[in-house]
Amino acid sequence: MDIFSELESNVQCYARAFPAVFDKAQGALLTDKYGQRYIDFLAGAGSLNYGHNNPVLKRALLNYIEHDGIAHSLDLHTSAKEEFLKTFKTLILEPREMSYHLQFTGPTGANAVEAALKLARKVKGRTNIIAFTNGFHGVTQGALSATGNRHHREGAGIPLQHIIRMPYCGYHGWDVDTLKMMDRQLSDPSSGIDLPSAVIIETIQGEGGLNVAEKKWLQGLSALCRKHDMLLIVDDIQAGCGRSGTFFSFESYDIQPDIITLSKSLSGFGLPMAIVLLKPELDIWQPGEHNGTFRGNNHAFVTATAALKHYWTNSDFEQSIAHKAQLITKAFKSLSARFGVTRLRCKGRGLMQGLECASGEIAEEITQQAFQRGLIVETSGNRGQVVKAFCPLTIEESVLEDGLAILTASVIATLSKCHAQVS
Ligand SMILES: *Cc1c(COP(=O)(O)O)cnc(C)c1O
Repeated sequence: MDIFSELESNVQCYARAFPAVFDKAQGALLTDKYGQRYIDFLAGAGSLNYGHNNPVLKRALLNYIEHDGIAHSLDLHTSAKEEFLKTFKTLILEPREMSYHLQFTGPTGANAVEAALKLARKVKGRTNIIAFTNGFHGVTQGALSATGNRHHREGAGIPLQHIIRMPYCGYHGWDVDTLKMMDRQLSDPSSGIDLPSAVIIETIQGEGGLNVAEKKWLQGLSALCRKHDMLLIVDDIQAGCGRSGTFFSFESYDIQPDIITLSKSLSGFGLPMAIVLLKPELDIWQPGEHNGTFRGNNHAFVTATAALKHYWTNSDFEQSIAHKAQLITKAFKSLSARFGVTRLRCKGRGLMQGLECASGEIAEEITQQAFQRGLIVETSGNRGQVVKAFCPLTIEESVLEDGLAILTASVIATLSKCHAQVS
């Protein structure tokens, strides 16, 4: 029996789908301990937007460690944090005319979500928060309450409360305006809904199956929040940091969320780091009221700063993301046309695109075929039915083409023997 089966908890999951022992990685390529190479369309579930061991980030980190830079600092001020804050202000906030305070939370996405929910409840003095069907916000108790997925929710062991579930954009089909439903329920004094403090939303649902909220809908949601005195929390942990095509996923939507959560690719190097952006007037925290031992991961600050300086000083990076996104769209559209939208439907946008299959079993078969051909790609969606292509944003075009060719071959091999339709 190998040491993983012997000692590691049954809770492991990705390791079951991709049972290799990985050893090295560079860019979009992973190598296992026997030297077998894989193209990585998983990218740490969106934590490796700049690829594995990105040379620019690696150099910055090696220099920092070599000079005895501070590694751990609670929330003490350090030069690494100073440089990150200055860079985030000048390269991200100011050009977008955004004014926010930064709260460094514990280093995982769930930590940032917990802080955001806690702050919203504290500011408004109300318990409920609206979250959406198929939303994913993490698996700690508070974040899990906001998460829709039953498989995850059933692990909670206690009632998951204080969340009101509303239908996401398009949930009841495109001819049903779910905002109108929400507005009506929130406006009716006898609807049975106690006024929430906030709404938490992913503009593109990562784990939920790459469902995209329309611009008009999100603008309407933002207006609805103002109308009913609720804060708008955008959970940009997965869709942010360039994944959707721009640094924040909502940049083209003309909305200004009250609170934004970022994590996954924020450090750029796969190092744990999370922040909550909050409108300055919402910053009513008492010193130390919300804390955490690992809020000062300075190695992550160093690589995050290097990533911002290298990729976000002009629009070149965004243009290259758009170009790669087009290549994926083209490949996926041609597959969807070949098999028909009833069997294969294109989902998502930017470099968070996928193919919706008729069932989770079909999607899984495709990803298993891909793995045998040397491509790592996972599934998402309420029934695991969406094959989710998440390459690093920095992937070379030739590697992207190779990955798409493997995915295409895997789809054709799977669908040629199965004719089930997307519901
Ligand atoms: C991954 C994710 C989280 C949770 O982050 P963890 O680091 O796994 O706790 C929260 N929200 C969204 C949208 C995510 O994709």
